[in-house]
Amino acid sequence: MTIAQRIAEIRANLPESVRLIAVTKQVSVDAMMEAYQAGIRDFGESRIQEALAKSEQLGDLPGLTWHLIGHLQSNKVKAALERFQWIHSIESLKLAQRVDRLAEELGVKPKVCLQVKIVPDANKSGWQISELLEDLGSLNQCKNLEIKGLMSIPPLGLDQAQTLALFERTRQLAQEIQAQNWDKISMQELSMGMSGDYHLAVQAGSTMVRLGTILFGERSP
Ligand SMILES: *Cc1c(COP(=O)(O)O)cnc(C)c1O
Repeated sequence: MTIAQRIAEIRANLPESVRLIAVTKQVSVDAMMEAYQAGIRDFGESRIQEALAKSEQLGDLPGLTWHLIGHLQSNKVKAALERFQWIHSIESLKLAQRVDRLAEELGVKPKVCLQVKIVPDANKSGWQISELLEDLGSLNQCKNLEIKGLMSIPPLGLDQAQTLALFERTRQLAQEIQAQNWDKISMQELSMGMSGDYHLAVQAGSTMVRLGTILFGERSP
């Protein structure tokens, strides 16, 4: 199957309201162009240098939105803000505040998701639920961020039922936060679901799926 055929097939099975983010880390510019021509307007990258290099090669493609989905180092925030309209991987109050400060300097208003760890996971960053609830007041002060929702990534090794439960807990958490009516925090978006689990994420209410392998094939290790 071509990339265009895979995109069409996935799109046909996703609810209209779910945004399809094509995760293009380690994917060639040619393949990205193919995805663009097949209607993709959202690219997700986890490394800033790679995204910058490829966006330069792609040139100005109308309507394109770049999503940062990987760990953001504090010394790369400025570079990130110059390329990415969305940052899904805001994983601590400290990082949120730094992004807020630099966004103000640059005069941009990034859309962000707060990355949560619903269950303990030594390999992932992000807020635990109780920590996030404590930090909401301070996050609400980050006036240059458009806080849009939550991102969650299940730890390796969960079965389907556990994965679904994790996504559902993420949705509940977003609803709990929404019900607190913060003026600067909105929880309309749920960035959940990768190639192996996106159907479960959608079932649990995901609004943005981040798909790489299923569109572009296996990445080389
Ligand atoms: C790589 C990556 C994806 C895409 O994963 P696939 O399994 O290839 O679909 C999604 N989200 C994040 C945060 C990633 O790092």
